Amino acid sequence: MTIHSINTGNFKLDGGAMFGVVPKSIWNKTNPADTNNMCDWAMRSLLIEQDNQLILIDTGIGNKQDDKFFGHFYLTETDLFEQKLNQLGYTKADITDVFLTHLHFDHCGGAIQWNKNKTGFEPAFTNATYWSNEQHWQWAVEPNPREKASFLKENILPIQESGQLKFISRTGNITKNIFKDIDAFFVDGHTESMMLPKIAYQGKTIVFMADLLPSVGHLPLPYIMGYDTRPLITMSEKLLFLDEAVENNYILFFEHDIVNECCTLKQTDRGVRLDQTFTLKDIFN
Ligand SMILES: [Zn+2]
Repeated sequence: MTIHSINTGNFKLDGGAMFGVVPKSIWNKTNPADTNNMCDWAMRSLLIEQDNQLILIDTGIGNKQDDKFFGHFYLTETDLFEQKLNQLGYTKADITDVFLTHLHFDHCGGAIQWNKNKTGFEPAFTNATYWSNEQHWQWAVEPNPREKASFLKENILPIQESGQLKFISRTGNITKNIFKDIDAFFVDGHTESMMLPKIAYQGKTIVFMADLLPSVGHLPLPYIMGYDTRPLITMSEKLLFLDEAVENNYILFFEHDIVNECCTLKQTDRGVRLDQTFTLKDIFN
C-alpha cells in the first residue's frame, strides 16, 4: 500500500459555527479569524494505492457550483486536484473506488462534474465504484431542514443514476475490511452514519478524521462544531475515540486543519491532548 495526501483546496467557514459554544477569545488563538469572522480550512483527500485498486477518500468541494455559491466560501487552489493526481502518475479514470465519509458538499462535491455540453451532471470518476452507506444515503436524499443546505442534490443523485453507487453495510460502530487493511468507524453526532476510514499502514494506524475532529483545535471535548446535528453524541464519540487513539498510538489525519495534516495524542491530567504534529511525508517514505 502507498498513501498520498492531496489537498483539493482551501476555503473559509465562520469561526463561531466551527467551534459551537466555545468563545472566540479561546478558539481565535489556534484558528485566527479574518475581519468577517471567517477562518481558513483545508479540504484534504487521501489517495491509496494497493494491488489493483486506487482508492480516493473524499473529493473536496469540486468546481460545478455557481460563483454565488462559491462566493460564500472564498475558495483558493480548488482546481489543482487533477494536476496533483497527474503528478502522481494518474488520471481521474484510474480511480477505482471513491469512498465518501458523508455527503456534505465540502466532502463529495468533487465526485460529480458537469458533462461536456454543460447540460447535466456526471460522475467525475468514470470507472470508480462510489461508496456510501444506506443509513447515510437515506438521510441525505430526504434531508432535514437543518442540513438541507449541505446536501446538494446535484452532488448526490447523479451517483445513483450512474449505477456506480454501492453501500458499505454497517455493523455497529465499526465495519472491518471494507478494503484490504482498511476498516470504517461509524459515528452519528455530526450527521447520520458518517464513516471514518481506519488504515493499517507500515505498522501504524492512520484514521481519517473527516468531521468528527476537523482540526487540532477541536481536540478538547467541548470543542464541537455548531454544524453537528447531535452534539452530545459527538461528545461521547470523541471521548471514546480519543481514549482508543491514545492507547493505540493512532495517527490522526485531518481533512480540514489548514496547518496540521496529522497528529498523535498523549494522555494528560486535563484529558487527551495533542502530542506531535507532522505530515504523512515526514514519517513514511
Ligand atoms: Zn467538512
